[in-house]
Amino acid sequence: MYSIDNSQQLFNRAQQSIPGGVNSPVRAFKSVGGTPLFIEKAKGAYLYDADGNQYIDFIASWGPMILGHAYEPVVKAIQEKAVYSTSYGAPTALEIEMAELIKSMVPNVDLVRMVSSGTEACMSALRLARGYTGRNKFIKFEGCYHGHADAFLVKAGSGLATFNIQTVPGITAGVSNDTLTCAYNDLAAVEQLVAANKGEIAAIIIEPVAGNMGCILPQPGFIEGLRKICDAESIVFIFDEVMTGFRLAAGGAQHHLNVNADLVTYGKVIGGGMPVGAFGGKREIMEKIAPLGNVYQAGTLSGNPIAMIAGYTTLSELKNNPSIYTELEQKTVYLRDGLHKVLQASGTPYVINQRGSMISIHFSDHPVTDFATAASANNELFKKYFHAMLKRGIYLPPSAFESWFLNNALTKEDLDKTITATAESLQEIL
Ligand code: PMP
Repeated sequence: MYSIDNSQQLFNRAQQSIPGGVNSPVRAFKSVGGTPLFIEKAKGAYLYDADGNQYIDFIASWGPMILGHAYEPVVKAIQEKAVYSTSYGAPTALEIEMAELIKSMVPNVDLVRMVSSGTEACMSALRLARGYTGRNKFIKFEGCYHGHADAFLVKAGSGLATFNIQTVPGITAGVSNDTLTCAYNDLAAVEQLVAANKGEIAAIIIEPVAGNMGCILPQPGFIEGLRKICDAESIVFIFDEVMTGFRLAAGGAQHHLNVNADLVTYGKVIGGGMPVGAFGGKREIMEKIAPLGNVYQAGTLSGNPIAMIAGYTTLSELKNNPSIYTELEQKTVYLRDGLHKVLQASGTPYVINQRGSMISIHFSDHPVTDFATAASANNELFKKYFHAMLKRGIYLPPSAFESWFLNNALTKEDLDKTITATAESLQEIL
């Protein structure tokens, strides 16, 4: 008999001392209803909650755990490093090795600065683009999430879309007025916006494959078109690769899509499950960062040795075993094809978007190519699907506005179980 009594008790207790009982909003299951699971441990592709239930994990800590949980080389490396102190606040050789490893894997990164989250990476990259160009405005895309720095919380996806938050109290109009937005995949709208703000736009920032409104793919020519606009108008093109970096390919979306960014931000996989982010790019731009230039950016725990060794070990595994990406893609395509079969048989309208090991389902009868089409899908049905899957031991993101992330510990049996659970769930909820 499936029970989550312990999670319920922990959630009640958590709400007494933590806002909403969680340290990041989407974890609260508020939009899908019900009780968030309190996790006790995880191994490989499986999560175990406080009641001892086992789940196949399609969140992977929202992306980082690409090799599976408690991946032994990573655990061992952390243990070995921890005995030498957990932080120095001074440079280490490991940070050089990390920077060199990143440069050897991804294109167009001459210099790279480590930070502690994806938010910090994107916030710093935007400040740098503004400092470099001397311009204030920037363009982001509706439904893209670039962390919770003030400038980005305009028409942002992820939790803001999940909770339908239109404007965020506490962010001044002065800040958000410089944030210009366009629909994803709408190149003509970008051209118009750039023309209307000629010489004023510092940067265009994009999730090159978007994962914060479900998974949304760039249409052919879209990213290439943005690159051309940026070149013509001396706009800094920023790829937010917090999700796609080291996930779509060892070289991230730049490699996968064969388009060059001027600046690129990383998070998630780069830290192997530890709090790590990074931003990097062309030397000419990166040299404006302090202490070389005056664009200030800093961090007490930046380049932290435990975080670095977890990230370094994860990236090394990915670099040394490129077949991981082929395996991940094969697994995701196998899942996608299986889901297609059972969804088609159910007769309910649906869309599956997939790229590499990112995939999502929207219950929609039209293609899902931007935020508007993602938002008009039947998200009530998604909620029911989520709960029907959860009680069958499948842990999906608790929102249709999130991508699923596959990890390489998943087996064919896990994927078959997920496909069967989907067939059963659809039967139950339709
Ligand atoms: N950019 C993207 C594309 C993201 O998906 C996220 C987090 N989901 C962020 C930035 C922010 O990263 P963090 O949560 O590590 O601050």
